[in-house]
Amino acid sequence: MATTSIHPAVDNGVRPGSASFAGGTLACKCASNPVEVTVTSQCAYNHVCGCTKCWKPAGAMFSQVAVVPRDKLRVSKNADKLKVVDANAAIQRYACKDCGVHMYGRIENTKHPFYGFDFIHTELSKDQGWAPPEFAAFVSSIIESGTPPSEMGAVRSRLKELHLEPYDCLSPALMDAIATHVAKASGKLAA
Ligand SMILES: [Zn+2]
Ligand SMILES: [Zn+2]
Repeated sequence: MATTSIHPAVDNGVRPGSASFAGGTLACKCASNPVEVTVTSQCAYNHVCGCTKCWKPAGAMFSQVAVVPRDKLRVSKNADKLKVVDANAAIQRYACKDCGVHMYGRIENTKHPFYGFDFIHTELSKDQGWAPPEFAAFVSSIIESGTPPSEMGAVRSRLKELHLEPYDCLSPALMDAIATHVAKASGKLAA
C-alpha cells in the first residue's frame, strides 16, 4: 500500500534546519521573470497546514507554512506581478498573477494576534537550513478539499510517524498565544 503523501517537503522524512541559518530567497514558479522575496531571518512555527486557504503545490494534501517578522521580508524582484488573493481575508496573501504561487501573507490589522508576522512557504527557497515543520495544523480541514473522511486515520498516523503532531486547529503554543492576546485586549490579563 502506498504511503499517504502529506507534502513533498516531508514525505521522505522531515529534514532538520540549521541553527546558524539567517534567511534566504523565495522564488515563484514562473520560468521567466519570477517574483523573488528576500527574507533576512530564520522562520518560526513552520508547520504543515490542512486549511483551504494556504497555497499548496499541485497534488499535495497539506501546505507547508511558517512565519517571519514582517520587517525581515521584502519583495526583491518583479513585485508588479503580485496581487492579493482575497482583500477581505485576515491574512492578505500575495500571489503571482502568472503562476498562482503565494509568495507571502501579511496581516494589516494591528489588533490581530499574529500582527507583525508574515507567512511564507519555505519550499519556494533553494536555500538550505530553514527550520523544518514541527506540527500539523487544521488537519480535519483537508476533508473540505475533498479528502474522504475514511482516510483521516491513515493521514493522522502518517503525521505522527513524521513527528508532525496532528491538531485540528493550531498547536497548543499558538492557541495559547491567541488566547493570551485576547485576554490582554479585554483586560482579563495584565498587558
Ligand atoms: Zn510566478
Ligand atoms: Zn493553512
